[in-house]
Amino acid sequence: MTSATLITYLHLCHRKLWLHHHHIRMEHNSDTVAEGKLIGESTYQRRAKKWKELDLGYTKVDHFDPHNNEIREVKKSRKLEHAHVAQVKYYIYVLEKRGVQNVTGIIEYPKHRKTTKVELTDIGRKEIEGWQAEIERIINLAQCPDMVKKSYCRNCAFYDFCFV
Ligand code: SF4
Repeated sequence: MTSATLITYLHLCHRKLWLHHHHIRMEHNSDTVAEGKLIGESTYQRRAKKWKELDLGYTKVDHFDPHNNEIREVKKSRKLEHAHVAQVKYYIYVLEKRGVQNVTGIIEYPKHRKTTKVELTDIGRKEIEGWQAEIERIINLAQCPDMVKKSYCRNCAFYDFCFV
């Protein structure tokens, strides 16, 4: 079963995706993950009432405005924006599958004072089906994919696992 986390990891690192799926987790040790959560929480404390958490069973949307069918994500840095956009596209896709139409998304980067608007087109829907097939392929590999060094590695929760 695909989740938003697996979609995000597909866009970051196939090794990380495989490790996460096989219940090898190190996020609880990560200052980067904790800081990201803190930014999200402090930003939304000021306007919490507008946003509702949606639990979709295998994936969770932290902030959904049911009046405008709008999803928001809050992120620390724009460096991994392609993965953030993929995550929000996936949320829209899941909501559409549940019968919620005309959903849009916004990604906020409070530190940069920027927002990115996200919409799902027919091309995007096809793209997501391709991502799901690729996730299936990767998680069914018999062995963890080899490490491919990226600029992102230093901020990855698995850094010690891969490099030390
Ligand atoms: S440290 Fe780098 S190679 Fe290892 S899981 Fe993280 S992103 Fe992937």
